Amino acid sequence: MTAGTTISAARIAPDSPEIGQLLHSFVSELYPICRSITGNGLRETLRRIGERIPVQIHEVPTGTQVYDWTVPREWNIRDAWVKNSRGERVIDFQRSNLHVVNYSIPVRKTLSLRELKEHLHSLPDYPDRIPYRTSYYRETWGFCVGQRDLDGLPEDDYEAVINSSLADGHLSYGELLVPGESSEEILISAHCCHPSLCNDNLSGVAVACFLAQTLASQTCRYSYRFLFIPGTIGSITWLSRNEHVVPLIKHGLVLACVGDRGGFSYKKSRRGDAEIDRAVQHLLKHSSAPYKVREFSPYGYDERQYCSPGFNLPVGCLNRTPHGEFSEYHTSADNLDFVSADALAGTFRKCLEIFDLLERNHCYLNLNPKCEPQLGKRGLYRELGGQSDAQIREMAILWVLNLSDGQNSLLDVAERSGLRFDVIHQAAASLERHGLLTPARNQEEL
Ligand SMILES: [Zn+2]
Repeated sequence: MTAGTTISAARIAPDSPEIGQLLHSFVSELYPICRSITGNGLRETLRRIGERIPVQIHEVPTGTQVYDWTVPREWNIRDAWVKNSRGERVIDFQRSNLHVVNYSIPVRKTLSLRELKEHLHSLPDYPDRIPYRTSYYRETWGFCVGQRDLDGLPEDDYEAVINSSLADGHLSYGELLVPGESSEEILISAHCCHPSLCNDNLSGVAVACFLAQTLASQTCRYSYRFLFIPGTIGSITWLSRNEHVVPLIKHGLVLACVGDRGGFSYKKSRRGDAEIDRAVQHLLKHSSAPYKVREFSPYGYDERQYCSPGFNLPVGCLNRTPHGEFSEYHTSADNLDFVSADALAGTFRKCLEIFDLLERNHCYLNLNPKCEPQLGKRGLYRELGGQSDAQIREMAILWVLNLSDGQNSLLDVAERSGLRFDVIHQAAASLERHGLLTPARNQEEL
């Protein structure tokens, strides 16, 4: 992507139809890079993110103790192949980086077909797809191939070469804090450790990057912290270095698999009833699109670490089709066609909607709490707009007045009334203009 596109991306309004194309072209730009949980592919990905947002790149040395884990040696790969006896590359890393088991140790060997097959991985049910395999914490090597290609290999002497290195180095991650009026934070976390896989990693990376760009151009109540990290070891490393930040995190979202054409799926935080859980569910329920909500489980992406009992952060996970529920998952079919511009744009907008709700979710105090105020004489009924929804707006006003005792947030009012948050918020704004409502001072401001 050229610098020109980058500049225009910053200028584009969130509701612009071009957003989807820009997100998809950023995914396309990052797609060829061979990423892993450490190494130059990860670094290059962070550098490209850094061309769009002022992300800070942290380098944590190999051997650093992070809770019960240790930052591993850094893995880098230059080339890899399997050649037949005629010198032809029958498996070629240059054609797809998925061909090499991620974190393979260096190797140069001549093998019979039978010996070679012990190091080959394939998917018999999907004979044209290359599987994605990793071996981060066990020293081994291997190649991944389509079953059809594997079946076509004749008896021969094969040369297997993996020109990789596994050496002391660093674990890299990217972090950006977009400061708001409050020091309280919303955490957005995306893993960026998978090689050429689009939905599973690049969709979340692209959406998070564009969200940071958009939020940085707005005035926000919350501060927003964006993390671009290798899965598992990245969030463990970040948490171990940032325990002082943890108390500031009021809400959080892990973004993963957010570019496919499926409806939204939200996995609740371990708490299950955190404000982020309720906000996302409210918006999904009041959208016209199909969606799923799943309870927390200690399996999945980095929410596992953020929601470990020592932190128990209010961090949910937003997906379209969850990992493992689409056959393309962790295969070469999770490619640029599998993610769509519309789906990426839809996720981007849904996230902005979620943040917008959290930003506006305050508790209010009814200044006329003894019986209902007379709304008619204040013109409140008349200013309520179109006839068709006038009744809904009246109900919203009555609900806000009744529940605004300083204890209920607007989301509480929306949930209890069954009305949309937006309608409740408009009613509150209207009542505030008429001097009938005032924001309740919360603990933070006391
Ligand atoms: Zn994955």
